[in-house]
Amino acid sequence: MLMPSADYVIVGAGSAGCVLAARLSEDASCEVALLEAGGEDRSHSVRQPSRWPLLWDGAENWGYSTTLQAGYNLRSIPCPRGKVLGGTSSINIMIYIRGDPRDFDHWRDLGNEGWGWSDVLPYFIKAEDQARGASSLHGVGGPLAVSDQASPSPLAHAFVDAAVACGHRRNPDFNGAYRDGAGLYQVTIRDGERCSTAKAYLDPSRERPNLRTITRARALRIVMDGDRAIGVDYFDGAQVRRIEARREVILSAGTVDSPKLLMLSGIGDPLQLESHGLVVRNALPGVGANLCDHPGSPLVLALRQADQAPPTSIHAEAGLFMKSEALNDGFAADIQFLAVPFAPPHAAAQGQTRAMAITVQACRPKSRGRLTLRSDDPLDAPVIDPGYLTHRDDMTLQIEGLRAARKIAAALPLREHIVRELSPGPGAIDDASIESAIRATSSCIYHPVGTCRMGVGADAVVDAQLRVRGTRSLRVVDASVMPQITSGNTNAPTIMIAEKAAAMMRAGQ
Ligand SMILES: Cc1cc2nc3c(=O)[nH]c(=O)nc-3n(C[C@H](O)[C@H](O)[C@H](O)COP(=O)(O)OP(=O)(O)OC[C@H]3O[C@@H](n4cnc5c(N)ncnc54)[C@H](O)[C@@H]3O)c2cc1C
Repeated sequence: MLMPSADYVIVGAGSAGCVLAARLSEDASCEVALLEAGGEDRSHSVRQPSRWPLLWDGAENWGYSTTLQAGYNLRSIPCPRGKVLGGTSSINIMIYIRGDPRDFDHWRDLGNEGWGWSDVLPYFIKAEDQARGASSLHGVGGPLAVSDQASPSPLAHAFVDAAVACGHRRNPDFNGAYRDGAGLYQVTIRDGERCSTAKAYLDPSRERPNLRTITRARALRIVMDGDRAIGVDYFDGAQVRRIEARREVILSAGTVDSPKLLMLSGIGDPLQLESHGLVVRNALPGVGANLCDHPGSPLVLALRQADQAPPTSIHAEAGLFMKSEALNDGFAADIQFLAVPFAPPHAAAQGQTRAMAITVQACRPKSRGRLTLRSDDPLDAPVIDPGYLTHRDDMTLQIEGLRAARKIAAALPLREHIVRELSPGPGAIDDASIESAIRATSSCIYHPVGTCRMGVGADAVVDAQLRVRGTRSLRVVDASVMPQITSGNTNAPTIMIAEKAAAMMRAGQ
């Protein structure tokens, strides 16, 4: 039996959607329907942490890729997005990072009242079940498991020790008292298995009579009555169905699909909508704009001896947050490093299995791109152009980061594990040759955000309550609302956004 209507209809059971569904349905008097295009999250590869690279070719990934990137020598790169309960939290690398407190103060200073660090910290804590115990910065008893890695590789420890030998401070908790320094990442893993938001939030709520989760339900458009959202049309694989929203429709379809759904519903840049023959209901030129992602540039090193990643490994075990010399914007760090003590896919593909990578990412890239419609067909993938490394400052940081990674690789105790540098390679000495290697080999860290930017002004898509401007009964709650990318991985901030959104909605805001 289909629920023909619900108080809240949520589109997308990803990092944000599962949180919202669970929190809103805590109120037994309100009915919640959660639509997810993908299926159940039963695959072994979703559960076992070390298997995440295998998910890219699976049914759990939308299989998107970017346009040919001018900053990457006209290469297109994959843009994996989870298509399964838990969304991208079911296919991601499981690193738990909140970002720099200044990221959120910056959001607030852009006009988003209520999103400063002191406002959002309680929601990070509310979500958290920290294995190390509670403190003023950490919570226990929340749905999301945050734990130390079960058996990090000796090479991950060697990376941290070498970074410390190079003058970086040791940081035992990247979400603690200070942000910069080198350490092992904490992870969203419970009892050796991935703790996605489907596991953390949805599973414990799924039996509630007031929550209905509908998988294989692909939303096609929002049903509008004038400026009010009244439901969602979706395709169940056989036919188009309609579900009505008595109170609100909430888009949690992620940075790629939330703006796409707005545009298909006539909400977006009028010129673009008209070019696809769509009726303009609400002219919001910012929909799809402000697309931002972390670029990722690898230093690949041949090793004397290689280990296999154990089942609990997330591969990217160690990290570093470093303040650059090139940029001084007052943040604790401008560059994040991910040390992967196992063969990175590109080295493995070249038959080089005894290898490791240190990937460098500018924390707050200034490059911006755009997401646009390919056509008015809801089943068509949109056009994704993140504009990687099109801003000079981002390249400056990537070059400085690669040089710093090389220094760490040359320091003890990491040095004794390394035979030689494979990429960029010993010939890349000056900035120009490092830059050309970066453009030839970079990918990203898979953190697209910003396409339904929260803020004030003509380009903002949602307000500080995440309500779509110029409409009624319609919100966007996911990574797309971030006005500026956070200084780190984006799952935890997305979960925070959904926790805060649910609290605002339950408070009638
Ligand atoms: C490979 C990879 C590794 C990553 N590693 C990390 C990491 O280690 N740590 C970290 O913090 N972050 C990581 N991230 C980023 C992080 O996981 C994402 O930022 C976060 O999950 C985004 O959450 P979201 O709710 O915005 O979107 P999603 O989690 O993507 O949720 C969107 C949901 O909507 C569904 N949907 C989309 N369109 C429709 C439609 N038309 N109808 C119905 N349903 C629809 C999708 O199937 C999906 O379930 C990684 C991302 C990737 C891709």
